[in-house]
Amino acid sequence: MRTFARKPVSSLTDPGALISLKGISDKRASLFAKLGVERVFDLFFLYPRLYEDWSETVSGADLLDGEVQVFQAMVARTPSVSRYGKRSTVRTELLADQVTVRAIWFNQPWLADALAAGETYLFRGLILRKGTRLEINSPQFYRVGSELPPLLPIYPLTAGLKQTVVREAVKAAMAEQALLPLECLPKSIRLKRHLAERTFALAAIHFPADRHALMLARDRLKYEELFLAKLALSYMTKRRLEAAVPPPLDTGGEKRRQVHAWLSALPFGLTRTQKRSVDELLDGLDGRVPMHRLLQGDVGSGKTVVAAAAVLYAKLAGGQSAFLAPTAVLAAQHYRTLNALFAKTGMNTALLTGHMPAKERRKVLAGLADGSVDCVVGTHAILEPTVTFSNLAFAVTDEQHRFGVLQRQRLLKTADDVRPHLLVMSATPIPRTLALIVYGDLDVSVISEMPPGRAEIKTYPARSADRPRIETIMAETMARGEQIYVVCPLIDQSELIDLKAASQVQALLQARFPDRTVALLHGSQRPSEKDRTMLAFAAGDVDILVSTTVIEVGIDHPNATMMVVENAERFGLAQLHQLRGRVGRGDRPGLCILISDTQDQDAKRRLLTLCKNRDGFALAEADLLQRGPGDFFGTRQHGLPEFRLVNLYEEKDLIDQVSADVADILKDDPELLSAENRRLLPAIGERFGDHFMHLVL
Ligand code: ADP
Ligand code: MG
Repeated sequence: MRTFARKPVSSLTDPGALISLKGISDKRASLFAKLGVERVFDLFFLYPRLYEDWSETVSGADLLDGEVQVFQAMVARTPSVSRYGKRSTVRTELLADQVTVRAIWFNQPWLADALAAGETYLFRGLILRKGTRLEINSPQFYRVGSELPPLLPIYPLTAGLKQTVVREAVKAAMAEQALLPLECLPKSIRLKRHLAERTFALAAIHFPADRHALMLARDRLKYEELFLAKLALSYMTKRRLEAAVPPPLDTGGEKRRQVHAWLSALPFGLTRTQKRSVDELLDGLDGRVPMHRLLQGDVGSGKTVVAAAAVLYAKLAGGQSAFLAPTAVLAAQHYRTLNALFAKTGMNTALLTGHMPAKERRKVLAGLADGSVDCVVGTHAILEPTVTFSNLAFAVTDEQHRFGVLQRQRLLKTADDVRPHLLVMSATPIPRTLALIVYGDLDVSVISEMPPGRAEIKTYPARSADRPRIETIMAETMARGEQIYVVCPLIDQSELIDLKAASQVQALLQARFPDRTVALLHGSQRPSEKDRTMLAFAAGDVDILVSTTVIEVGIDHPNATMMVVENAERFGLAQLHQLRGRVGRGDRPGLCILISDTQDQDAKRRLLTLCKNRDGFALAEADLLQRGPGDFFGTRQHGLPEFRLVNLYEEKDLIDQVSADVADILKDDPELLSAENRRLLPAIGERFGDHFMHLVL
């Protein structure tokens, strides 16, 4: 496979090396390297953070306290210099349309000579009101009538590197005609999307003639950034799929009929979108390329049974499946669920988690190796190198974003070029377009409706002071024979401290309800202990389950109808939505109470959004906007390159356009060899290096 690796910087004689530029010493070059600038090329893409705008001036009467402003003023008296040892101050008074502004500069004594009394200049700086007078501290100035840069770029800096040095370096780079990045976008695309040329855009993003030129430049470079990223992903994914062979499966109409017969024997009928998703999965297993699919559906929409249909199809066709869950508790639950679903199918399922007795573990491993185990359910333990399959055909990961990129890669690394079909399930409704960027080119199935008869979940905010009332509701709930979750946030990185907080809550509730059983579920407990607690809760022997967020995902227990969340402000919106999805799963309405004493307005607003909104999709988007992708996908796990201009969460239309254009190009010219497209692969390499190599599975 072709890679996009960049040429290393060799030496001074390398025309692309930064040190070949005028004014760049070795020392400066190493400072630039901290900003990710190693070659002259990179300087062009070191976009300004913002621009100093000298074009919008205000009159003296409109000067505002606390704002950086540009105004024209006359120097009202000869500047004075006072010196104290090595330090000095320059003072003068400026007259801006009848308004006097006191100006002061520190340790720049030469400025006294640069400013002439009676002359008019443009000043720019932070205005402060001191009593009845206005003051400005170390303003910059230009003589009126001299040529002003209308918009002056302000660059990201690092300690030791000055704004002017960066600016001059960019200017010097711009002057090197031979080093200017060539146009890379096909002309047809530029015309279709009304995009400026690359050289114009790069010049204008650094030194724009005016706001309009800046807008044209940004539009073009934004498009380019996303386009090259998306193209790299699609191109490489396609390559990967071409090189890979799906596992040998003996699928066909008869086996499909068996799967459908099994589905119609279930106690419920599938929803329309569940059915569609099952069909898409079975088609995928029939396919001649390994499937790579995302199954999205809000909490409680019934993803498990859909995945199970594909597991059954794989088994009937002679292949094994692996079902990965992010936690041992969830793995155990999936194991039970699948066993129940597959009761009459002859499916041999096994559970594999990190903390199993060695003997049991050996048995499971042997079963996987000799093919007698059809479906293994488990945690990361499945990904260990000691686990070998006889014919792994289908892998499902639940709540994908919990797994790192590397772990995904491990799962898919099998002998030769054989790759199992992959399904990723997520209850976090990532906008489809974003999913394509994050996960690479995968197909998406969406379950967009809830099973019929689902009762509503009511969500209310509360304060600590409301506890007596909340406890009354808890008592009523338990009197009806229903169960309750109480969720405590992870307070600390230390599991011990979290445990203490959660166990205090448990002790308080046990004291309050002495005739009831209040159990504790916590991340630092042994898996067997957690399992025992979950089983007891599932059997109805526990009335209140106090837990840290270990129940966040997937737990399915319809008799639990009430949830109380402590310190609710500590959770993200998407996470709270997942949590409350644990109640109201049967035919009885769910109740979720969010306790928070926060004074933070943003946090309060977030909690209210959740109370008013049932749609996980809208909530996830709101959460993304508020917390950013790092929090959402888990830090660093999303594996995305750094986008400098594009904000993925705000650019839905742009993502759509780019995706469509990339698909068109690859359809007509899959190798990207035509005259129009020839510059694309080199451009990806120059811009992103081999970043995408690691991202694409
Ligand atoms: P999630 O999508 O959150 O993983 P689950 O797969 O755990 O949801 O399903 C939630 C519950 O809904 C389970 O008890 C499951 O048996 C049930 N269920 C799934 N599909 C249907 C359906 N079409 N009609 C009724 N109940 C369903
Ligand atoms: Mg689930």
